[in-house]
Amino acid sequence: MLASLKGMWVTLANAFKKPVTAQYPKEHLPVQTRYMGFPVLTWDYDVQEPFCTGCMVCVRNCPTSCMSAQMMDNPLFKDGKSKRRKIIESFEINFGRCILCGICVDVCNFDAIEMSHQHELSVVVRNGNRADLPRLLEMGKAYQAEVEWTPKTKEEAKQEATA
Ligand code: SF4
Ligand code: SF4
Repeated sequence: MLASLKGMWVTLANAFKKPVTAQYPKEHLPVQTRYMGFPVLTWDYDVQEPFCTGCMVCVRNCPTSCMSAQMMDNPLFKDGKSKRRKIIESFEINFGRCILCGICVDVCNFDAIEMSHQHELSVVVRNGNRADLPRLLEMGKAYQAEVEWTPKTKEEAKQEATA
């Protein structure tokens, strides 16, 4: 009897608490700042070009081989407007095969790729979720605006390299 009353009390007490869950997919809970969603490419607003030089380091280290990239000579370098000799020409990530491991971000030396908060990108077609360079940059700009992203300072990069 006492146990039943206790149980009823717990039920009643919790019935008036604010719910911590959401009616997905109608409602969405915010993700944590550190949340690792799909990788996106960042945009250098100072020069108006991507940070990515197409060096292929991330492509070579991706454990699922879901990335491809191609570099080209940077026209802005020739004009003296950019310090990047090479720049990305084309880039693709097959989100259907990405396992969100973050290795591509860890190995990039140019702050050119970040794990965004994007996680709802399912499609019904197999391999139908390939993101090209314009899409990755658009997603990157949205992520930069959302978290007020700035590239690492020299000091931060040094600390990260020695950690
Ligand atoms: S994202 Fe970084 S590691 Fe990958 S190709 Fe671009 S610059 Fe190189
Ligand atoms: S998060 Fe991992 S699997 Fe996805 S593109 Fe980057 S390295 Fe590849």
